[in-house]
Amino acid sequence: MRIAHVAVIGAGIGGLLAAAALAPHADEITLLEADDLPDGPVGRVGVPQGSHSHVLLARGRRAFEELLPGFDAALAAHARDEVDWTGDCHVFSGAGRVPRFSSTLVTRPCTRPLLEWCVRERVLALANVKVQKAKVTGVHVEDGAVRGVAIAGDAHAADLVVDAAGRRSRTAEWLVGMGLLAPAEQVVDAHLGYATRLFERAPGMRDFKGLVISSRPPSNPRAAALWPIENDQWLVTLAGTAGTYPPTDEAGFLAFAKELQSEILFDTIRTATPTTKIHGFRNTENRWHRYDRLETLPDGLVVIGDGVCTFNPVYGQGMTVAALEAQALARLVETRASLRGLPRAYFRAAVRAIEPAWLLATSEDSRWPQTVGSARGFGARAQYWYIDRLMELTPTSPKLVELFLSIVHMVRSPNAFARPDVAAQVLTRAAIGART
Ligand SMILES: Cc1cc2nc3c(=O)[nH]c(=O)nc-3n(C[C@H](O)[C@H](O)[C@H](O)COP(=O)(O)OP(=O)(O)OC[C@H]3O[C@@H](n4cnc5c(N)ncnc54)[C@H](O)[C@@H]3O)c2cc1C
Repeated sequence: MRIAHVAVIGAGIGGLLAAAALAPHADEITLLEADDLPDGPVGRVGVPQGSHSHVLLARGRRAFEELLPGFDAALAAHARDEVDWTGDCHVFSGAGRVPRFSSTLVTRPCTRPLLEWCVRERVLALANVKVQKAKVTGVHVEDGAVRGVAIAGDAHAADLVVDAAGRRSRTAEWLVGMGLLAPAEQVVDAHLGYATRLFERAPGMRDFKGLVISSRPPSNPRAAALWPIENDQWLVTLAGTAGTYPPTDEAGFLAFAKELQSEILFDTIRTATPTTKIHGFRNTENRWHRYDRLETLPDGLVVIGDGVCTFNPVYGQGMTVAALEAQALARLVETRASLRGLPRAYFRAAVRAIEPAWLLATSEDSRWPQTVGSARGFGARAQYWYIDRLMELTPTSPKLVELFLSIVHMVRSPNAFARPDVAAQVLTRAAIGART
C-alpha cells in the first residue's frame, strides 16, 4: 500500500529508522521532535542516555545499512576504527579471559550523538521526509481510529502515527483515554547503573583496540567496556549490577575500575587525560509493554523502539531491535492493501524482533539473586546452571566464545545454546567437574 502522510513522534534512533523504512511507501513523513536538533554530533536533553556507551551490534549494523545504504561509510569518515570483538579486543567472560581469534563480529564504535547525527543526516536528505520542532501532547481520534496527533492543542492530521518517543511514550495512556485497555507490562530489574567518561587515547603500543570485562554472578557485579571512538578518544563505561552503582567522582570511578575481574582497564585509564566529566545513569530495567497481547488496538497508531520495550543497556540491544521493528513495519506496509488492522499485525511481528533480545537480557539478569521480576522456577535454575557451565568453557573454546558473542550480537538466536554439539560439551564439562 501507499500511505499519504505518516507522523512520527520523536526523531531519536527509532523515529529516524522508522522514517527511513517507511519512506519508500509514503508520500510524506513528518518527524515531530520536542528538542532542537543540533547540526552536528552533539548530545541533547531528549536523549539523556546519549553520553553512555552505545554499541551497534553486528545484526544492527547490517540492518542500519539495509535501511540507509552507505551509512557505515558516512560514519567511517568520523569514527575510523572497526573493532573485531574477538580479534581486536580483550574479552573477559564471567569465567575469565577468552581466546583471541578473527571473527565476523565487527562493529564501529562511536558516541551516540555521532551515530544519531549520521543517521539523521541521511534520513533528512530523503526527499519526502521533513522534521518539525513540536512536542506532541496527544492523539487526534475520529471514529475509534487515530487520525493524527495533537500539538499545543492543534490537530496535525496523519494517516499513520508512529510513536517513537522512547521512554517518554504515552501511547498506553492514550489508549486508556480512548476507553481501551493499557498493555500489561513485564519488568525484570537487575538494578544496574552506569558511569561513563571519555579520555584522550594515551599514546603507546597496545595489543588491543577495545576491552570488554564482564561481571561474574553472583560474586563480582562490576563490568566495563572501553571503546576507541572518534577524535582519538576512548569511551569508558563502568557498569555495576545488583545495586553496586559505579561512582561518578574521580577517585570512586578509578577504585571501581580497579575492582573489575581484570586490572587492564584500570591500568589503561589511570594516567589517561579525561575529556569529559563522569556521567551516571540508573533506571536500566528491562520493561516490555505487551501491546501484542491486547485484543483491541485502534487503527492508525503503532509504537517503535523503547516505547515498546527497553532492555538493560549492558547487552547493547535497543537500537538493533528498533531497526528490526522498523523493517518489520515496512514489510507489512509493503504487503498489505490497507491500514486496517496494521497495528495488531505490527505488534505481533515486533515480538519476533524483541523476544530473542528479551530472553538473553532477562535470563542473564536473573542470575543475580537481587533481580526483581526474574524467573526462579526449576526450568530457570536449570538454564542458569547450563549457562554457567558453558561460560566455564569459554576461556578454552573459541567456538563457544563465537557462539556466545554471535547470540549477544543477535546474529544467532539464543536457541543455539541448546544445539546438540554445545550441549554435549557442557554436559561433559559438568561430568568432569563433578568427578574433580
Ligand atoms: C544508558 C543507556 C545505554 C544504552 N546503550 C545502548 C547500546 O549500547 N546499544 C543499543 O543498541 N542501545 C542502547 N541503549 C538503548 C537506546 O538508547 C534506545 O534503544 C534507542 O535510542 C532507541 O530508542 P527510541 O528511538 O525509542 O528513543 P530515543 O532514542 O530515546 O528517542 C526518543 C525521542 O523522542 C523525543 N520525544 C519524546 N517525547 C516527545 C514528544 N512528546 N513529542 C516529540 N518528541 C518527543 C525525544 O526528544 C527523543 O528525541 C541504551 C540505553 C540507555 C538508557
